Amino acid sequence: MTMSSVPSRAKIVIIGGGVGGTSVAYHLAKYGERDVVLLDRSELTSGSTFHSAGLVGQLRADPTLTKMNMYSVELYRELQLTDTPPSWIECGSIKLASSPERMEEIRRQIGWAKTFGLDLHEISPKEAQEKFPLIEREGVVGACYMGSDGQVDPSQLAQAMAKAARQNGVKILANTRVLSITTKAGRVSEVVTDQGTIECEIVVNCGGIYAAEIGRMVDVRIPIVPMSHQYMITENFLPTGEAILPSLRDPDLLIYFRQEVGGLLMGGYERQSRPWLATREAFEEIPQDFNSKLLPDDWDRFEEIAINSQVRVPKMSELGIKSFINGPEGFTPDNEFCLGETSVGGFYVAAGFCAHGIAGAGGIGKVVAEWIIGNEPPMDLWHMDIRRFGDSYKSPAFTLDRVQENYERYYDIHYPLEERRSCRPHKQSPAYEWHKAHGAVFGEKSGWERVNFYETHVGDENLRPQGWAGKNWSPCVQVEHRATREAAGIFDESSFAKLRVSGERAAEFLNVVCANNVVKGVGRTTYTQALTTKGGIEADYTVTQVAEEEFLIITGTAFGNHDLQWLRKIQREHEFADVLITDLTSELAIFGIWGPQAREILTQITDQSLANEDFPFMTSQEITCAGKRVRATRITYVGELGWELSLPISDALVVWEALIAAGEPFGAKPCGYRAIESLRLEKGYVAWGVEVSTETTPAEAGLDFAVSKKKIDFIGRSAIIGAKPVTRKLAVITFDDITTVPLGNEPIRIAGKIVGRVKSGGQGYTIGKAIGNAYLPIEHLVEGSQVEVEFFGEWKTGTIGKSPLFDPQGIRIKA
Ligand SMILES: Cc1cc2nc3c(=O)[nH]c(=O)nc-3n(C[C@H](O)[C@H](O)[C@H](O)COP(=O)(O)OP(=O)(O)OC[C@H]3O[C@@H](n4cnc5c(N)ncnc54)[C@H](O)[C@@H]3O)c2cc1C
Repeated sequence: MTMSSVPSRAKIVIIGGGVGGTSVAYHLAKYGERDVVLLDRSELTSGSTFHSAGLVGQLRADPTLTKMNMYSVELYRELQLTDTPPSWIECGSIKLASSPERMEEIRRQIGWAKTFGLDLHEISPKEAQEKFPLIEREGVVGACYMGSDGQVDPSQLAQAMAKAARQNGVKILANTRVLSITTKAGRVSEVVTDQGTIECEIVVNCGGIYAAEIGRMVDVRIPIVPMSHQYMITENFLPTGEAILPSLRDPDLLIYFRQEVGGLLMGGYERQSRPWLATREAFEEIPQDFNSKLLPDDWDRFEEIAINSQVRVPKMSELGIKSFINGPEGFTPDNEFCLGETSVGGFYVAAGFCAHGIAGAGGIGKVVAEWIIGNEPPMDLWHMDIRRFGDSYKSPAFTLDRVQENYERYYDIHYPLEERRSCRPHKQSPAYEWHKAHGAVFGEKSGWERVNFYETHVGDENLRPQGWAGKNWSPCVQVEHRATREAAGIFDESSFAKLRVSGERAAEFLNVVCANNVVKGVGRTTYTQALTTKGGIEADYTVTQVAEEEFLIITGTAFGNHDLQWLRKIQREHEFADVLITDLTSELAIFGIWGPQAREILTQITDQSLANEDFPFMTSQEITCAGKRVRATRITYVGELGWELSLPISDALVVWEALIAAGEPFGAKPCGYRAIESLRLEKGYVAWGVEVSTETTPAEAGLDFAVSKKKIDFIGRSAIIGAKPVTRKLAVITFDDITTVPLGNEPIRIAGKIVGRVKSGGQGYTIGKAIGNAYLPIEHLVEGSQVEVEFFGEWKTGTIGKSPLFDPQGIRIKA
């Protein structure tokens, strides 16, 4: 690849010529974007791509990622038929279970695969050995096989996509280093390289391990850490001319294999991870000349993997080593990609591929190109969206600790309700010490330590769900659920994100962003969604008008940064520069008191009348509670009468203690987030990122009631008003045995045909049933009809219910 002169202008500049950058270029060109330049500081594929192992697996826990990987396979098959084939070999893959727990995981995954039409099926240890004769069967409990998985040559793949992109008009310039990026009015405007400056509208950071460094050029934090990742290739010993062996994973032994020419490539995820360059004190500084280079062999760390490989493939102990690869790869704090537009307009990222970038590259390029062209995510990409990372990740220590924890637990079985272990506690509520002293068991979300439940609330063990759902379950939750339904629950929701939107045009702005009319007068609270132009749900929150020109948005703990960035994007693109958007999350605490006794309890600590006529549902007032000014909002997420109190952090503990003291004689209990989950499921309240996302419309989610029929101008309106009737809807499925609890992703079958997959599930302690939510074709939404749901290989019967399952008339919330 020779160096050529950079153009002075291009619509889109891609930085990085690995599989990420070339795939984005390929897809942009495929979709008709011609004014695209791809730059690499060295040669194409000289980053992590050239030293990749090239295994391509498709099935993942996240349905979106599975769809993306399936698309990758389709693309690699297609490219294989061109005159620059990437050596795609559809050799299949085997996953071994070397423990009974892993076998359960495999059976669960076989269920997921059915919902995608993927050809994953269970095979016996003997069948696994027939397909991969080198394995030792001792200790193998079972296995599964997928014929459509494969392997590809990573450099050839990047070159094949680059060639096709070039043929479609993309200009590819090697040896052209980006030195800085200029922004204007919150958007990218220029890319400055060592070969000249390019004026542009969009920059796509496909910098792999260098992506964080490129992000720093525009003050955007991209929490990617280069980690050392190793594998070895044995000498050739396999007979030539025979079918290539399937790739093989034995996660219990932390290892993977694939055939490499006549030898075996073997790597794994060590228990002792090693970051390259990054420390807890400082971000990585990658040497200027680190391209086409590897790291020194780290045998000490590889020893565990090498020993395990000999356990599963005894032949490994006899084979000579042809090469040993230790290469850096960009890992994120949660092992998911970092994709999408950042806080700087037009500055996109597609990096942090966590050692599955070759499997993902096709899908990554497709969705990022679609995101750029459509100016919004084309599908539910929340788990990979750069906006999921809040301010905590500005800390090198927080990021590194999280990345290492993930890397080291990569091959572990991840049970539902599992909690992160690193960096805790990080952010705390003002009542944290109180919770701790009263037996709180904490969980963590977006760096916040939050009460899951209090271990002092001992409930009925007989309700423990069967199987996996029971692993991290607690009998305490049912006690808190019942206290809320029967007396009152007092909840600390201080981690919720709080955003203030103010200014002369704040009302006009919010009514453009929100699907509901949120400008109903001072003291009114509105539940609303913010939609994409296609009518998908980009955000879901409540808006309270606190003054003529001031609004308070309360949204989920994990969504603060995402929702803030969405508001700022609309502000930028719709010319609302005069509107002020402020993040108040760390300034305000929030407590919820809900239940039939909530009014009585709150009355003990305030002089304000809480009667319906003085304080109706969905209104908000500043009142005095326990001598402190608080904003009380009559709203609920659990389906009970009650108020949410927001107040300055400094006053919070006093009010919390007053609530607890006032509540005690009425049977109220402090409660945690797990009780909220059970209560909201029963009441049919949806959660963004769980039941609703950019892939679902309000009509599909049963949220039509929250869309204004009168407003004429809000984002997404033209896509949903007057749209064709929906063909699928969110359905609730109940299971009479409360211990039969779906976890999500289970296939749903009617008359022998797969019709959907479970989105969410839990227990409803008041209705005495287990609950699952799923989008189903409307012809199947017959209340009282039966469906089958597969739990770990076993089909169980559920019943389509009528949502909400609890208090359908909403009598309790308006009591
Ligand atoms: C040992 C190992 C084994 C792996 N095995 C697998 C596997 O089996 N299966 C799988 O799916 N994945 C695997 N991976 C992961 C996969 O290789 C990576 O995810 C993928 O190659 C990353 O591609 P990328 O395009 O993001 O980054 P890179 O390939 O690193 O490309 C980034 C490019 O950006 C360029 N760049 C950086 N800064 C600048 C600048 N300022 N100006 C211009 N250009 C710049 C660099 O020169 C580089 O070429 C493995 C990784 C490693 C390390």
